[in-house]
Amino acid sequence: MNALAATNRNFRLASRLLGLDSKIEKSLLIPFREIKVECTIPKDDGTLVSYVGFRVQHDNARGPMKGGIRYHPEVDPDEVNALAQLMTWKTAVADIPYGGAKGGIGCNPKDLSNSELERLTRVFTQKIHDLIGTHTDVPAPDMGTNAQTMAWILDEYSKFHGHSPAVVTGKPLDLGGSLGREAATGRGVVFATEALLSEYGKSINALTFAIQGFGNVGSWAAKLIHNRGGKVIAVSDITGAVKNPNGIDIPELLKHKEATGSLLNFGGADAMDPNELLVHECDVLIPCALGGVLNRENAADVKAKFIIEAANHPTDPEADEILSKKGVIILPDIYANAGGVTVSYFEWVQNIQGFMWDEEKVNAELKKYMTQSFYNIKNMCQSHNCNLRMGAFTLGVNRVARATTLRGWEA
Ligand code: GLU
Repeated sequence: MNALAATNRNFRLASRLLGLDSKIEKSLLIPFREIKVECTIPKDDGTLVSYVGFRVQHDNARGPMKGGIRYHPEVDPDEVNALAQLMTWKTAVADIPYGGAKGGIGCNPKDLSNSELERLTRVFTQKIHDLIGTHTDVPAPDMGTNAQTMAWILDEYSKFHGHSPAVVTGKPLDLGGSLGREAATGRGVVFATEALLSEYGKSINALTFAIQGFGNVGSWAAKLIHNRGGKVIAVSDITGAVKNPNGIDIPELLKHKEATGSLLNFGGADAMDPNELLVHECDVLIPCALGGVLNRENAADVKAKFIIEAANHPTDPEADEILSKKGVIILPDIYANAGGVTVSYFEWVQNIQGFMWDEEKVNAELKKYMTQSFYNIKNMCQSHNCNLRMGAFTLGVNRVARATTLRGWEA
């Protein structure tokens, strides 16, 4: 089942639990707008190359649409559609005043020089500038993009519309970015994990963790878990995987990766098969990379008791069923990784107010939002007698459905 079919399926299940009428259900399934643009740029050697860029704006009933822009070879319209819809539910679960959107360019950013990436980002922005904006659609970083990408979008957008810092979030600090935004998704993952574990009378410092992905989200989650005394016993990224049953020294592994560009040949851990990471013996598994990594091939072999979905849709519906039958507790993506967009919201608020918060305030507010959302999800689980994924979906979908109904239907 592809990402869009899986996301639609979860939405329909939630809609049924909520008893939504078919008019609302249909309106929430169909995206508000789908944009597909050709982005042609000269390469550094003078040859022309074209990429396809997408922006799917899923829903704006609760506020401006919000979501990242991804540069990855596997970006395709269905996937972007699914991710845009997930952003609608995610912003609603987090209770921040946004709708959902997602964008992407089908390219491998590792094959492009910095100036090629800048040209590509500027051309993409030229093609979509009329359709994004502080109060319409606010992009942010995602896989393969970062604060520098946002700086180029901001600069290009400002040529058409004047200086508008709040048109993107995840910007560099010098251009109006927020303190704490870089770490926010990983920090939110850890706050979410703490909220879940406390329900089971457990805490991070007594547990072992396996983390798939050591980019922005995975490395921050690993660092913060390590700081709290949790044992990170296995880590993987595209360069390979390493394990140490006594716990990996994460700050040292980060230094090693910075110096060599790879996780491998690190003195403090042994190499392991990256495919083994997801089924490695551990208490908590945190997928922080691509979607669909937990599927019918490997779900039955998962040993973790808790899965924290730091990636978007890492568990496909078949795996969801197998894991639920095994009694594995899954903290769903639309809650677990909402820390990034929550601090994006704080960044947007600071830009609009023209007032910068200190990092302590950002982190304290993030903790408040993540903890509150967890209890709101638990309440939905109790009211609808469902698991955490459906608890989060019913919470998000219900808020969007209420906003849609209040706005009315008259043309
Ligand atoms: N790309 C992140 C996500 O998937 C952040 C989106 C944002 O900050 O708008 O949630």
